[in-house]
Amino acid sequence: MNIPDIHKKFNTRNRCILYLETLKWNKKPVCPFCDSEKVYKRMLSIKYHCNSCNKDFTVLHDTIFEESKLPLSKWFVIIGLMLNAKQGISAKEIQRNVGTTYKTAWYSAMRVRCAMIDHCNIELENVVEMDETYVGGKPRYKYSKKDNEPNLSKLTSKRGRGTSKVPVVGIVERKNKIVLKVVDRLTSKNLVGMLKEFVNTDTSIVVTDEFKSYKAFDEIVQHYTVNHSKKEYVKGMMHTNTIEGFWSIVKNSIKGNYKAISKKYLPFYLVQAQYNYNHRNYSANLFEKFLKQALETDKPMIGYKPVKNVNKIVYKTCKK
Ligand SMILES: [Zn+2]
Repeated sequence: MNIPDIHKKFNTRNRCILYLETLKWNKKPVCPFCDSEKVYKRMLSIKYHCNSCNKDFTVLHDTIFEESKLPLSKWFVIIGLMLNAKQGISAKEIQRNVGTTYKTAWYSAMRVRCAMIDHCNIELENVVEMDETYVGGKPRYKYSKKDNEPNLSKLTSKRGRGTSKVPVVGIVERKNKIVLKVVDRLTSKNLVGMLKEFVNTDTSIVVTDEFKSYKAFDEIVQHYTVNHSKKEYVKGMMHTNTIEGFWSIVKNSIKGNYKAISKKYLPFYLVQAQYNYNHRNYSANLFEKFLKQALETDKPMIGYKPVKNVNKIVYKTCKK
């Protein structure tokens, strides 16, 4: 949905609430505490009362919108902006577009990202590319104040493996979905763990580069490697161009929108990048689809702080 439509359709709190109630309950409200359907709406309020457990609740209970002072109409605009911004959007830009404080824009955007987590539904198969990259961290060069140009003699960190940046692993099924994960270290154990979690190893062909930690894949799945140092980038089907193209999109988006992202919050931005990629062919109904998911998501941040370890929030493991 485009922004003018959102402004027009959801310009009052009541309209927003009504829409959310329809998405969540479809006219049959259920108590979130005891699952009872013996509930009635309180007069002149968005609250419902449950006759079974005697508690009050609203459609916003335990969602990303709960306890927020930001009007729902503005929430909806922020969601619209974020879903439409395929290359990411900064809190600064949300602030300018929605007319909130920077803090509110940042916080709402983080909550929206939390509702974009969709790992549980991902199983990749067919031809799958797996690769790792390094994201975030401090700028590589120290800038000299005088001429504002990179001072190459003060190189702060190396590129690639062995830098202080954060390793991120991605797996993509061609013409389908991607899954991303921040890992502590690029060990065989971590990479194999991720492979088994997200890839159907019985039916897939996995393409990687020759990094030694991928060696263990040979025992588990049909595994091909490409040798980058020999300029062997594309050998028929066996290449990692899809995932490498994705990395450059992510890095440009970070450079363009966010400048630098701390290690603590990086997973949230990756969730957004993943969500945008996995929904790149959606246009109709994405707004509705997103809101449905947002109504199912616990509030993951309280008082500007994640409620628990960020990686645990972002990567729910769903045992099959
Ligand atoms: Zn109840």
